[in-house]
Amino acid sequence: MTSLTALSIASEIFPLIKTGGLADVTGALPTALKAHGIAMRSLVPGYPAVLGGIEDPQQVHSFADFFGGSARLLAARCDELDLLVLDAPHLYVRPGNPYVGPDAKDWPDNALRFAALAQAGAWIGQGLLPAYAPDILHAHDWQTGLVPAYLRYSGRPGPKCVFTIHNLAYQGQFPYELLEQIGLPKAAFSLDGVEYYGGIGYLKAGLQLADRITTVSPSYALEIQGSEAGMGLEGLLRLRAGRLSGILNGIDTKVWDPSADELIPATYDVETIGARGRNKQALQARFGLRNEPNTLLYGVISRLSWQKGLDMLLEVLPGMLAEGAQLALLGSGDAPLEEGFRTAALKYPGQIGTVIGYDEALAHQIQAGADALLVPSRFEPCGLTQLCALRYGAVPVVARVGGLADTVVDANEMAIATGVATGVQFSPVTAEMLAKALTKTRALYADQPTWRNLQINGMTTDVSWKNPAQHYAKLYRELVDA
Ligand code: ADP
Repeated sequence: MTSLTALSIASEIFPLIKTGGLADVTGALPTALKAHGIAMRSLVPGYPAVLGGIEDPQQVHSFADFFGGSARLLAARCDELDLLVLDAPHLYVRPGNPYVGPDAKDWPDNALRFAALAQAGAWIGQGLLPAYAPDILHAHDWQTGLVPAYLRYSGRPGPKCVFTIHNLAYQGQFPYELLEQIGLPKAAFSLDGVEYYGGIGYLKAGLQLADRITTVSPSYALEIQGSEAGMGLEGLLRLRAGRLSGILNGIDTKVWDPSADELIPATYDVETIGARGRNKQALQARFGLRNEPNTLLYGVISRLSWQKGLDMLLEVLPGMLAEGAQLALLGSGDAPLEEGFRTAALKYPGQIGTVIGYDEALAHQIQAGADALLVPSRFEPCGLTQLCALRYGAVPVVARVGGLADTVVDANEMAIATGVATGVQFSPVTAEMLAKALTKTRALYADQPTWRNLQINGMTTDVSWKNPAQHYAKLYRELVDA
């Protein structure tokens, strides 16, 4: 096995900076790839959380004027991660989220902030740093969609580029007038370049110009070639279908390990699954729910956005409660949804508990204590919470879309009879079908031996990065050998 070097370029990386699943992926992949002879470094913007969390930073390059200010590249580490940090205070040293300011609006210079990240990645690929020549650049989501554009239009040789779509809904579209400022030539502004509906499309550029496109599940790779999930890019994706593939995400099975999780009250494994009862009791207490060991307790851990379908859950709550269930919801996002779940908790005390916010420890406690985890997404490129749920014995109840369809085995009669079922799927994604799925879940829960089988099948499913890493390694090698 020959060894290869790859540079991952992304706007988030766990554990330093995370707003969603993207960070989990970019944080876990480098370690998983080591077993396949791939040495992956990760380029990440120098947000305050990144600069504050890295170990042993060493300056390896400086730019006198980089997108309107001075900047440096720092080589650093964070646990097992081998990092390059783009320290450009004028672009990244700001409070809060990587994308939006305290007023919840996108930073007005996001076009420049992420063009800078992509430009730095492309230059590193082309030999900016002495003695470092990555064989592959791996760019993620719209923030780094310009990486292959910078490679292409520089006119200089560079490595092959893989571009991964984690979510097609965020496209990074900016006015044409910025073309010069982001350092791209006029020639780049064409149908087969970065042009997108009259402006500059960062995601579009990645899809158009990368050597290979991946997305995070086989089902989503198919769905995005159709008009419903394609979000305007389905035509381009169909054209490039031969270069497009779906590779499921895994989860970090050390971070998510119910037998050694320090964030949960009682650890357990398949042999000691009964200990989940203590976690359920603690969770009920934490969410102000009635202490009822035999009441079906649903958990939700989610961004509160249209994508996640939780407005449908609000619609079906009365029926769900009438069937005798409880809900513990952790999430943050759109104000009407936050308000909806806050109000529901007030209206149904003891039955519904809501925590609005982002809380990593509580996410673990929900996975360890809830009987079932609800993920009614309208679309879901991969989804990570259902993978964690499988590992923790919280039976996933999911919409049959994208990665949810690919990772949960529906408890239909055949799957139950053959002992392979791990959860409940519903389709089409409507409130009516969600309500039916809840009724079905209720019936499964009432049959405790079957329920226990669902839990154990889930807990013994391989949700690690082992298989996905093998697929990425194969893809990199194919590209390098091509
Ligand atoms: P997305 O990336 O679309 O938000 P994913 O399911 O792919 O959805 O990944 C979400 C990740 O963020 C999971 O690791 C999940 O546990 C975590 N997460 C989401 N919302 C919260 C929250 N409010 N508190 C803690 N963790 C959360």
